[in-house]
Amino acid sequence: MRELELPALTHSALSDRLIALRDEHQRLKGQGLRLDLTRGKPSPEQLTLSQPLLGMPGADGHTAQDGTDCRNYGGLQGLPELRATFSGPLQVPAEQLVAFGNSSLELMYECLVDAVLFGVPGSSAPWPREGRTAVLCPVPGYDRHFAICEKLGLDMIPVPMTETGPDMDEVERLVADEWVKAIWCVPKYSNPTAVTFSAETVRRLAAMETAAPDFRVFWDNAYAVHGVADADEPLLDILGLSTEHGHPDRVFVFGSTSKITAAGSGVAFFGSSPANVSWLLGHFAKRTIGPDKVNQLRHARFLPDAPAVAAHMERHAALLRPKFELIDTVLEKRLGGTGVASWTRPRGGYFVSLDVLDGCAARVVELAGEAGIALTPAGATFPHGKDPRDRNIRLAPSYPDLDELRDALEGLVLCVELAAVERLLA
Ligand code: PLP
Repeated sequence: MRELELPALTHSALSDRLIALRDEHQRLKGQGLRLDLTRGKPSPEQLTLSQPLLGMPGADGHTAQDGTDCRNYGGLQGLPELRATFSGPLQVPAEQLVAFGNSSLELMYECLVDAVLFGVPGSSAPWPREGRTAVLCPVPGYDRHFAICEKLGLDMIPVPMTETGPDMDEVERLVADEWVKAIWCVPKYSNPTAVTFSAETVRRLAAMETAAPDFRVFWDNAYAVHGVADADEPLLDILGLSTEHGHPDRVFVFGSTSKITAAGSGVAFFGSSPANVSWLLGHFAKRTIGPDKVNQLRHARFLPDAPAVAAHMERHAALLRPKFELIDTVLEKRLGGTGVASWTRPRGGYFVSLDVLDGCAARVVELAGEAGIALTPAGATFPHGKDPRDRNIRLAPSYPDLDELRDALEGLVLCVELAAVERLLA
């Protein structure tokens, strides 16, 4: 701990500090680093945990439990045994779950495109034809969600994330407008804040009255089984709760094995009410004769049930845990007590959310870039890439090894301090 927070230092003390920090930054630049803390990709060691998958289902293994020949066309909803495995983790009855391609993001895109072109069950017209269409975006959030909305010309309304999920007073206020049609949610170990929505938040999302009769919750449960702490954080079953509250079609659940098996060669899932499932399958039927069932079969063999998924995820957690601990140690050592940074201590997921002094995030990213440390662009966690306070930076520690991560973080904390001192002197 420091004796004084940086903002409390005198002008002359800050000026001395600036000279020392600039020297240090100059030396850092001279090290010729090439480090990357941008994308939340599994490390090679994590991917190797699923190596047996590459030998599956094997030359003779093409028959699913119900006798389906997985080499052939058909089976639009996906293999029943794989849907049974992921029914529990995704909190969707297997018969209401679809196992489809290799990317849940693609399914989210598909759902929004179909809503824009045709409307969803309960719509009286395609979404834009009913007037302005807006989507609620908890911030900081996942940049690719925002990019889909931007591409489709949907308005985005930021809603602050709190420690229990999106600010529900604000959400309930906004959904009283009928042109507010949807909300993005990453309900467990959220990207990037690692927040798991509280029971009250989930209940309110399930129960709230919305002016739009065809309002949808895009429940992107990408990190459903991705705890790194000893105890998993519980999440209520929103699909069941919405049905109980008379809104059976409200929720679209998404998930995938991208960060369970192979990112890029996994299996994605969509879960919802029977009406929504038929709606999506109806659209799928026009663009494909069926998904890659051979990949689904190998996943079903590798992960035959939910306990197998949990055991596999424990091996991922063992690789990720030291990385999260390292972030906290390095940040605390240099930035703890400075009054110019705060950060999350995730119990799961893939990211740490770092808030620096207001007005400094872009400068931190620039200073780090000059020293060969790639950070996610400042603002990426906000709609249109614009963080109104220019303070949030998403850190993704999964890919680099521990030594690279330590080097990147030690450079980062220097840049955070340097940007803050520059700002305080400005
Ligand atoms: N959703 C969230 C919240 C993510 O963080 C990511 C990847 O970083 C994805 C979806 C992408 O998932 P998929 O690989 O299934 O498309």
